[in-house]
Amino acid sequence: MNVKRVEALVRQLLIELGEDPERDGLVKTPARVAQSWKFLTEGYRQSARRVINGAIFKAESSNLIIARDIEVYSMCEHHMLPFFGRCHIGYIPRDRVLGVSKLARIADVYARRLQIQERMTEQIAREVRKATDAEGVGVVMECRHLCMMMRGVEKQNSVMTTSSVLGSFHANAATRAEFMNLALRKA
Ligand code: ZN
Repeated sequence: MNVKRVEALVRQLLIELGEDPERDGLVKTPARVAQSWKFLTEGYRQSARRVINGAIFKAESSNLIIARDIEVYSMCEHHMLPFFGRCHIGYIPRDRVLGVSKLARIADVYARRLQIQERMTEQIAREVRKATDAEGVGVVMECRHLCMMMRGVEKQNSVMTTSSVLGSFHANAATRAEFMNLALRKA
């Protein structure tokens, strides 16, 4: 991403909105917005493989592992407005497990780009499966979308829930139900 070019675009946007980009409060805004977008879209310049960085461990366990309430912040690709919420990731390993913090890092790689919640849920599930060769993976996301809350239908309290289940989570109803129950249980 070319930061200087993004700054120029933001300055142009301010003018189009009817603002004066030279006034005190706005002089540094293009630079701040460019840095902010750089961070919020870092996922384009990262890969899950790189953030996992070899933190995959041998384990004989074939029990359900679940990480709940991973915070996610992303930007909707239809309106370039934030959506944010929680992500729950579960998997049943064959012989490899991921370091706990790595699940959150994988979520960030896919959150930090223009997204739709459905695709992001699916991408995280596939990535966890790829990294661990787990026999089953499930991901549930519960997010609020500012594009719905601030504009459009203005549904202020609606939470969108999406899920993606792979392998035994897909094939086996009991496994899927156990995961969904644990993931969506209110703390
Ligand atoms: Zn949107």
